[in-house]
Amino acid sequence: MEKKEQLYEGKAKKVYATENPDYVIVSYKDDATAFNGQKKGTIVGKGVINNKMSNYMMQMLEKKGIPTHFVEQLSDRETVVKKVQIVPLEVIIRNVAAGSFSKRYGVAEGTKLAEPTIEFSYKCDELNDPLINNYHVFALNLATKEEVATITNMAFAINEAMKEFFKELKIDLIDFKLEFGRFHDQIVLADEISPDTCRFWEADTWDTTKHVSLDKDRFRRDLGGVEDAYAEIFKRLGIK
Ligand code: UDP
Repeated sequence: MEKKEQLYEGKAKKVYATENPDYVIVSYKDDATAFNGQKKGTIVGKGVINNKMSNYMMQMLEKKGIPTHFVEQLSDRETVVKKVQIVPLEVIIRNVAAGSFSKRYGVAEGTKLAEPTIEFSYKCDELNDPLINNYHVFALNLATKEEVATITNMAFAINEAMKEFFKELKIDLIDFKLEFGRFHDQIVLADEISPDTCRFWEADTWDTTKHVSLDKDRFRRDLGGVEDAYAEIFKRLGIK
């Protein structure tokens, strides 16, 4: 598949047109941002890891019946994906309290939740991705009731598949962010699944006083060992 003009450049990826109007090529960069772009840096090798890992996860999920945007990996950093219209919601699933959830509700990071939770943020950089509820989603015509129901069911099913998958790798899936797109009237999982978008903690070694992050929190919180954490996740996945 041939790369044509660049359509878009985001914080971590570039998107190019192809000769097929249904497909685009995404190219993963090593650029890292946090706090809505206020903190910027580079995580050397991240683009390659996130590309390959995300493709691996999407294929694992496809096998479990989850439709995704994945089409074909072209190279270390480049993948053909379905050209979707992104539903402007960041869908966050949590198993354990961390990050903004811990701050908002005053629960210590590392507190196990009685059941997995879902929340939506309105994808809008200018507004800092504000939290949004279903009624507001419908009132603003961001997605239909049917789409929100589909997205919710898919997100919880993805959580169950991913929790089980990472448990085998001795990694606990704390929380993660998903994005969905519309492709010919079907809702498909889009964007990426990587240490940029998930919290991964070394299994069986954490409580509410300590944990070992193998994800972007090492960058956000200046913990050091950022590249090593991404490399460790990648190694455990056993991807070539
Ligand atoms: N997340 C993300 N992109 C965002 C915000 C959050 O990928 O713009 C992921 C983040 O990596 C974590 C989960 O969503 O795995 C929950 O993040 P949280 O709401 O706790 O926000 P944070 O503390 O990262 O600001």
